[in-house]
Amino acid sequence: MPRVQLAEVTKYFGDNLVLDQVDLSVAQHEVVCLIGASGSGKSTLLRCINRLVKADYGDIYLDDVPVTDESFGKVGLHKRIGIVFQSYNLFPHLTVLDNLTLAPRKVHGKSKKEAEAQAQEQLDRFGMGRFAKAYPEQLSGGQQQRVAFVRALMNKPDVLLLDEVTAALDPELVGEVLGIIKELKAQGMTMVIVTHEMGFARDVADRVCFLEGGRILEEGNPTDMFNEPQHERTRAFLDRIIEAGRL
Ligand code: ADP
Ligand code: MG
Repeated sequence: MPRVQLAEVTKYFGDNLVLDQVDLSVAQHEVVCLIGASGSGKSTLLRCINRLVKADYGDIYLDDVPVTDESFGKVGLHKRIGIVFQSYNLFPHLTVLDNLTLAPRKVHGKSKKEAEAQAQEQLDRFGMGRFAKAYPEQLSGGQQQRVAFVRALMNKPDVLLLDEVTAALDPELVGEVLGIIKELKAQGMTMVIVTHEMGFARDVADRVCFLEGGRILEEGNPTDMFNEPQHERTRAFLDRIIEAGRL
């Protein structure tokens, strides 16, 4: 049984067909990287999975249950599927601890004590324990992004969606965030990752999907995709990436 399954997922923004009957199946513990040019629909695809964006047509399943199923309730899906964005979106006026415990307390009904204990445990796990009382602006970009990962992991999700999580970071901070992702993979986290870091995709992905014009044009294991792309468009995209020195 796939952990996540998309069948003919289609999305328009106005007249703009952004996702065109996308089929995608992600197994438990699998790491799938979505690559493709800007505007190809990667973020939209990712956001359809946890319903931040509502698909117009097609079906999306989590463990064979449609994500639209009312058994998920208003917030249940977001407990099961975590997401981290390029911009960390931490509240500047709240401490790290308060940023982390806000949703568990206000949305998921956890007690302050329980939420804080859990936050502290997760912060420790990512080497951020000493920053619990710090404010976001006192942290580096890499540290803020680590907090955003902790926030996404607070509910112990089954699936993690990552949308260009290193794109806003200074080059020297990219490695520490990629390290977190590798560690999560080692722990068996199922992930769908949008990335421009092709070297990283080659490293971490079980499967790479190349999107163009809202379709998955080609998919395969990273070695095959990067060494011998079958589709001319994939080849052209990878050539541009190589030219830019990113592979
Ligand atoms: P990618 O992540 O691959 O760069 P996106 O999924 O962000 O691509 O965008 C795909 C297309 O959808 C683009 O043409 C973009 O302009 C459009 N789009 C994305 N989000 C919105 C939105 N909220 N409203 C209107 N158009 C959007
Ligand atoms: Mg995007």
